[in-house]
Amino acid sequence: MSNLETVVSEIVDEMRQRTDRGEVARYIPELARVDPGHFGLAVIGADGTVAAAGDCDVPFSIQSISKVFTLTLALGMVGDKLWRRVGREPSGSPFNSVVQLEYERGIPRNPFINAGAIAVTDLILSGHQPREALGEILRFMQFLAQDATITIDEAVAASEQRTGFRNVALANYMKSFEVIDNPVEYTLGVYFHHCAISMTCRQLAVAGRFLAHSGRDPSTGLSVVQAERAKRINAVMLTCGHYDGSGEFAYRVGLPGKSGVGGGILAVAPGRASIAVWAPGLDAAGNSHLGRIALERLTKRLGWSIFGE
Ligand code: GLN
Repeated sequence: MSNLETVVSEIVDEMRQRTDRGEVARYIPELARVDPGHFGLAVIGADGTVAAAGDCDVPFSIQSISKVFTLTLALGMVGDKLWRRVGREPSGSPFNSVVQLEYERGIPRNPFINAGAIAVTDLILSGHQPREALGEILRFMQFLAQDATITIDEAVAASEQRTGFRNVALANYMKSFEVIDNPVEYTLGVYFHHCAISMTCRQLAVAGRFLAHSGRDPSTGLSVVQAERAKRINAVMLTCGHYDGSGEFAYRVGLPGKSGVGGGILAVAPGRASIAVWAPGLDAAGNSHLGRIALERLTKRLGWSIFGE
């Protein structure tokens, strides 16, 4: 076993035994049914070596991790004009905060809180039918993960569509400031569905490789985005990827990362690796509890924090 494989398997063994698992998301009924006992981890190094263990091949709801990919797609479509609609400062508030949006006159703080991601989805939707926009997002995920079998979990999307009242409020509020161009129900339909994309840790780690390697997928040599854009997406992940837990994640893990309420985290070790972890139980800020602890162990043991050993 390589050192990386040993570290990954020891972390998975430890995480499987821990009893402090956090709480699964209950506000999306379909996610409340997920067993908090799951734990998966996949790490893909610069040379393509994969170290993966636990439930690394069990699909889960990627939820807000999809926002990294919609941001990438939207930047490709509209370029830096995107930043006229959405800021790029950490929010210091919960991911679904309504009050912050009022203070900031309908311009979301960053593309990773719900309001910001809904505004980004609206940009992707403009000029398309919702079905086309969603197809575009799903195909982009399949392309990056090199796996055409990736799908949307319709039960999760329908569950959120029935209960996502806060997101409806955020979208309508932005609409009143003309930050949303399309009919609110169309934009939210696409948003709920891209959050409901179902992927495994292994697939997600493959999809994130371009962020770890200056915008290029090292296995194919294909450029997904310019190096400068990858650098900037990573910067926003570091400062905003964990909502009001972003400071704590940077302090403990020291990598750009994006969490989702399905319990997944995609983390990027620039030049070194793309990492995906899944543990469904969340902490108070809505980020994976054991996922964060596992990444802290990993970066500490491998000296991978971007801030030093
Ligand atoms: N679909 C979820 C929501 O809009 C995504 C939130 C998250 O993963 N933090 O509430």
